[in-house]
Amino acid sequence: MKAIRVHKFGGPEVLQLDDVPDPKPGPGQVVVRIRAAGVNPVDTYIRSGNYAMLPTPPYVPGNDCAGVIEAVGEGVTRFKRGDRVYVVRTTMPLSGAYAELAACDASMVHPLPANVSFSQGAGVSVPYGTAYRGLHHKAHARAGETLLVHGASGGVGIAAVQLGVAHGMTVVGTAGTDRGRKLVQEHGAQHVLDHSAPDYLKKLMEVTGNRGADVILEMLANVNLQKDIDVVARFGRIVIIGNRGAIEINPRGTMGKDAAIFGLALWNAAPEEMASIHAGLGAGLANGTLRPVVGQELPLKEAARAHEAVLKSGAYGKIVLIP
Ligand code: NAP
Repeated sequence: MKAIRVHKFGGPEVLQLDDVPDPKPGPGQVVVRIRAAGVNPVDTYIRSGNYAMLPTPPYVPGNDCAGVIEAVGEGVTRFKRGDRVYVVRTTMPLSGAYAELAACDASMVHPLPANVSFSQGAGVSVPYGTAYRGLHHKAHARAGETLLVHGASGGVGIAAVQLGVAHGMTVVGTAGTDRGRKLVQEHGAQHVLDHSAPDYLKKLMEVTGNRGADVILEMLANVNLQKDIDVVARFGRIVIIGNRGAIEINPRGTMGKDAAIFGLALWNAAPEEMASIHAGLGAGLANGTLRPVVGQELPLKEAARAHEAVLKSGAYGKIVLIP
């Protein structure tokens, strides 16, 4: 089969299309014929060699993908050949998502409802899993509260908007482009702000009657954490999802409000939490509440272009690779 492999960490150019042996399912595993693979910012951090947990090269990047079951290993009864699925985790580094086939533990694979395309399915696991864990498991968001999705136009952000709206929250989403803001509005945010405008947080205070946001899901904490502390409501919860550097903050701002700041890494979710996340996401996908947005589909061989694009501003849902 064809697969993208990284032979040594480096820039996007190290993503190289190789011929590799087809994976075979071990006991408890399935092999998925991949129809679309999701490109996440974390794939670029790993590829560059700057991440807490690194695979040993050569490796096939990526975990998020969707496709059909090609083969089932010994002991697997939940799936049969031909079933449509989305994948939470491949057996990367041995077998990753940027490929025609991937081996996965059957517990890391979920049914993909018929109303969800393969490209959309490739945008479920990391983006929706992270947004769900941030909103429900960390912030314990309640219906009627106000949610600020600080960076709402990308993969995690659009997922968070949809989840917040479905949960009965008032959702305020930010984006840096007109196109991104239109998207955020189309997905149900009641208020949409421009995070590159100088006065945008003044507008947030206006639309919340000067209370601020009860829950903030933060995509770029090194830029925004102090602003979040300034605009979080009393007893509010700030969840750091994305961060690309250092920032100086004044913690005093959290004290008078009894506000909390949580860090989040999706891979810290315990198996029972992951089961809860995917039960929620599966239901939301099936009933149409959750509709992953695919902004760009690129051929598998253009993985390097996808890695450049995913780090650029002007996000619009997901970028996916088509084998
Ligand atoms: P993405 O699709 O590339 O989206 C990035 C988002 O950040 C866009 O909405 C972008 O908006 C926004 N942004 C850019 N500048 C901003 C600013 N000054 N203030 C607020 N938002 C700003 O990436 P993603 O997949 O949604 O992931 C978002 C971040 O979360 C990434 O850093 C990723 O590594 C991280 N992440 C962490 C976990 C975890 O487990 N902790 C899991 C998934 C993702 P515009 O482009 O419209 O400006």
